[in-house]
Parts: sequence; structure tokens; C-alpha cells
Amino acid sequence: MARIVMKFGGTSVADLDRIRNVAARVKAQLDAGDEVAVVVSAMAGTTNQLVDWCQKLSSLFDAREYDAVVATGEQVTAGLVAIALQNLGVDARSWMGWQIAVETDGQHGKARIDAIESEELLSRMGQGQTPVVAGFQGIGPDNRITTLGRGGSDTSAVALAAALGADRCDIYTDVDGVYTTDPRIVPQARKLARITYEEMLELASVGAKVLQTRSVELAMKERVRVQVRSSFSDAPGTMVVDEDEVVEQEIVAGIAYSRDEAKITVRRVPDRPGIAAAIFVPLAEAHINVDMIVQNVAEDGTTDMTFTVGKADFARANAVLEQARERIGFVEITTDQNVAKLSVVGVGMRSHAGVAGTMFHTLAERGINIQVISTSEIKVSVLVAAEYTELAVRALHTAYDLDA
Ligand code: ASP
Ligand code: MG
Repeated sequence: MARIVMKFGGTSVADLDRIRNVAARVKAQLDAGDEVAVVVSAMAGTTNQLVDWCQKLSSLFDAREYDAVVATGEQVTAGLVAIALQNLGVDARSWMGWQIAVETDGQHGKARIDAIESEELLSRMGQGQTPVVAGFQGIGPDNRITTLGRGGSDTSAVALAAALGADRCDIYTDVDGVYTTDPRIVPQARKLARITYEEMLELASVGAKVLQTRSVELAMKERVRVQVRSSFSDAPGTMVVDEDEVVEQEIVAGIAYSRDEAKITVRRVPDRPGIAAAIFVPLAEAHINVDMIVQNVAEDGTTDMTFTVGKADFARANAVLEQARERIGFVEITTDQNVAKLSVVGVGMRSHAGVAGTMFHTLAERGINIQVISTSEIKVSVLVAAEYTELAVRALHTAYDLDA
């Protein structure tokens, strides 16, 4: 017998037929002798609609009321899934975040989970009851409903799995696992049987949006075994696991791309201590995440500083820099939104030389110019002109022998 958290995303509960399908899957897991807690998202499209209503009424909406509105999507599906399970003879009961309670901090709209009280759920599961938990929501120190940020029900599921000491957290979604790259671009992309937390984290943060990044961070920290799989097929999914569980490690696990970046160059800033701080501290204070950074060689006492930010922050970043113009002392700013970031990810890089070289060589062969480079222990990322995205991803997929 295993204890399993089964989480179903928006497309898996998009209509009543799919909700019946979810109930049948849960029933099958119970029939196999396992103990199950279910976590659900809102029906596909629902959260977007709820967010849109808030924004239409007021662009400066009160975040507490936003949470009161957007948390309702998951309340509906938790109740519906519980009814569908009861129809199959399962003793199911819905649970909202506040009832459990899923305690969060007070950052309405993007709250973090502090603790989950698990005793009541565990005792009911021990008596054969199956909880159906509304994902994405909790209760804040102000005693009001909070939500965890878009895509947050993945994090709800992993946090619940950790709190319940579950053997596994199965995330049911509309793809049947994690692929070596986006199969829409590379039809020869392969489904990975296993991937490490760190690789998943890098892939999630560079555009492969299978899981919310925070849920992967949490799974890694709490050592929750996560499986990504499809609610529409019985094929085994991808297990996200600890590094020592991956026996035959490929050097490169996958290739990700993101068109969500914009490049900013601050030209001819004085080359002296404090300049990087003058640029990046105001951006940080405005909660703008900076990703890749390069500082060029200084000539005539000035230098250029190039970096990338998310497209959503692009306009704000420019405004912040303009405001700090005097303090930074730059001559001009040049920008380019027509860029894409390509990343090669794999824990095998730690022990193998030449991964970056292969990337640069492959791109050079196709005449693709590299604008910015950044690396981590297990990732090499480059910024290129957006029109080369597909060509580059395909070439790299072949270069690292990832084609099926
Ligand atoms: N329903 C929420 C959203 O669309 C949470 C989730 O689906 O994970 O962002
Ligand atoms: Mg999701």
C-alpha cells in the first residue's frame, strides 16, 4: 500500500466527462489498495475569467478581494470531483484551504505556504475517506483566503504530499511527461523516464512550463517524488527524482527555449565600483528579476552593461533606469525585445567538459549569432535573435544525440 497525492490540472477537470474520468482514475488507485488525497485545479479557463473580471472592475483591485474571487474556481472542482467520486461509491469529501488549514503568509495573490495541518486529513484517510482538496488556496495570518500565484495548485499538491508523508505526488496534466524539448518544434523529442529535481527546476525556469517552478523547489527541498503524467492516457509519465536515483545519466537532459526575454544595454556607464549596484539595486527594488548579465571591457573609462529581463517587466525596467539615469550616469539605453533564450540543461555537465563548446559550435555552423551567454553548474544559456529559435532548438537536439 502506498500513500499518493493525485493532482489534476485544469484541462483534466475541464468538463463533467473529464471530471468523471478523474473520479474513475482515483477509484482505480484506491482499488489497487492505495491511500489517496486528491488536489484539483479550477476548470481550464476559469481562473483567467475570474482574473479578467477583477481587472475589468479595477486595475488597482484589492488583493484580498482578488483572492476571494479567484479561489472560487478550485472550490467548484473540489465539490464536483467529490460528487463524482461519491457516485462511484467512494467516501469522498471536499476541503477548502481554510478548512485544512493550509496556512500561508499574507502576500495576497502570491502567498507562500508556511504549514499544513495534516492530522485531521490523515485520520480521515485512515478511516477510508478520500479528501478532495482545492489547490491554489490557503488562509493568511489575517484569517482571509489567499492564493499562491498562477499555476499554484502544483505547489499545493507537493506541499500536501510533504505534509502527509506521501510516497508520491502524481501531477496529472495534458502532456504525458517531460520531454527532451518541445515536441511541437522537434517531433523526435523523447519523453524522459526520469529527470532530477535540479534539471526540472532549470527547465521549468527557462520556459518548459510543465510544473510551477515553486512546486519543483519545494519537492526538491522536501524530497517529494513527483510524477508528471497525463490524465488522458495510461502511459507512465516522467518521475522527478533525486540525482542518485538516475542510474544512467545522459550528459544533457533537455533543451529549453523562452521567447519571454528582452535585452537591455546600458551604454557607456563610468567603469568604477558601484556601477553594477547603481543599475541593479533599483531594478531589484522594483521587484524586477534580472536574468543574464554581461559587462563589456572598458574603453576610455566607460563600459556597456547588457542584461535581460522578462518581457512583462520590460517597460517598467526602462522606466526605472530612466529614473536612475543621473545616479548611473549612462549615455543611452538600447533595447531588443526580439530575442530568445536557449538553454541546454543536464547534471552530467558537472563531470563532462565540452557541453558549451558543442552548443557554440552547433549555432555557429548554422550562422546563428550569440548575443549573451550565461552558465550555471548544470546549464548553458545563450541569447539569440528570436527568428532562429526553432532552427537552433532542432540543431541542438540533434547535436546532443537526443533525437529519438
Ligand atoms: N487555477 C489556478 C491557475 O490557473 C491554479 C492552477 O491551475 O494551478 O493559475
Ligand atoms: Mg498548471
